[in-house]
Order: sequence, then structure tokens, then C-alpha cells
Amino acid sequence: MLAGSLTAACGKKAEGPRVVAHRGYWKAEGAAQNSIASLLAAGRIGAYGSEFDVNLTGDGNLVVNHDFTYHGLTIAETPLADLRCDTLRLSNGEIIPALDEYLEAAAQYPDLKLVFELKSKGDPDYEAAALPACVEAIRRHGVAGRVEFISFSLSACREFARLMPRNRVEYLGGDIAPAELHKAGITGIDYHFSVIDAHPEWVAEAHGLGMVVNVWTVNEEADIRRMLERGADHITTNEPELAQRLIAEFTADRRR
Ligand code: MG
Repeated sequence: MLAGSLTAACGKKAEGPRVVAHRGYWKAEGAAQNSIASLLAAGRIGAYGSEFDVNLTGDGNLVVNHDFTYHGLTIAETPLADLRCDTLRLSNGEIIPALDEYLEAAAQYPDLKLVFELKSKGDPDYEAAALPACVEAIRRHGVAGRVEFISFSLSACREFARLMPRNRVEYLGGDIAPAELHKAGITGIDYHFSVIDAHPEWVAEAHGLGMVVNVWTVNEEADIRRMLERGADHITTNEPELAQRLIAEFTADRRR
């Protein structure tokens, strides 16, 4: 059981806080944000998970990229082959990864969770095309047991929870209390750390419902330490090795 496995709700002992590399471990040598190199670097350092952003192309394919545009091209209006042309490159020289290629590479680190963000402005037609394509790709690559969905689109979160009820789904928006999300079948919050500072009570509320608390994008030592004190389960960060060290210290202190 994935959902709620961090809490006593399903009878398991808490696993302790974990690190999610934001857009992969893109600060590693030879990597770039949302590149295959950044995914593999996250696996290499033993991160709990690697986060990445997924967009639907104009011809119904999926690519890994943060923005809705790539080198000035609107991804949703551009065929995959045009985005992957030889002259357009990421900063590390890679061609923009197709989701298929990305999930294939993920097989090299089978313990690494795939924190899958669907980029969406909430357009129903876009989501009606994108979500089934995401689910189909995940199933085809046999990685369903490793995927945790995140999105700023509440409708996409609801739909992922319906289509893949065994997978964790975390809403990113920061504007809804955990109990309300829980009613919609959403199993986690993934909020900017300032939201958790403003609503520290949401951590216990989420945990009481068996939901996971993920925080983004926590890069400074003091902020990481404070989120650990507040009870965050997952620290999404551009500094995964720093977060790993601080978690080890935090966990050792708690055992004393
Ligand atoms: Mg993202």
C-alpha cells in the first residue's frame, strides 16, 4: 500500500523524512533540469525520489520539461519530432527527453520513486488527452509502483486519484486544507514551505488522515531544518545531498 504508508494509519511505523530531488539532481556534474542525467544522478546518491515535469505535445506525446514552452516553441502546439530536433538542446547537451525515454532510463534505479508532475493550466480538453496518456505510459513501462503524482491542477489530481487509486497523489497549490483534499481522494499535500509556516497545523491534520506532507522547494539549511521540525515527510529540494545530511542529523538527534 503506497498511500498513507508513512503514518500509523495503516499500522506501519513512520519511515522518517525523505529527500526528493527537484527536477532531478540537476546540480550534479553533466546534468540539467529535467534531464535524464539529473534523474540518474538522483538515483546515484540514493534520493528517495526524483521529481520531473511532464507536458503534452501538439501530437499527443509526452515530454519532460518544466515550462509550457521550449526554445520559444509552445509544447502543446508542437509535434514531438520538432521539439526533439538536433539543433534544440538542454544546457547539458541532451535532447529534450520524451517521457518514454525518461521512464526507460528510470529502470536503472528501481528503488527511486518517480515524482511525476503533470503541467496543466486546468484546461479540460488538455487534461482529457494528457492524463490517459500519462497512465498508459506508466503502465507500459511497468513503473506504476514507483510513481507519486503531483500537480497544481486540482482536477488533474482528482483524476489521477480516480485512475490510479493505489498511487499517492499530492496537490501543489497550497490553498486547500488537507481534510478537504482527502474528501476528493487526494492522498497528500505538496506545498511551498511558506504555506507550512503559515499553517503548521496542516501537518498533523494531514498525518491524522494518513496523508503525506511534501514541501517545496527547500534549499537553505535553516529552512530544511525547520521543515523537519514541523514534521514534513518529504523535502523537495535543489540540494538533495545537503538535505540527506540534515535528515541524518535530525534522525540521529531524535534517537538520542
Ligand atoms: Mg515540478
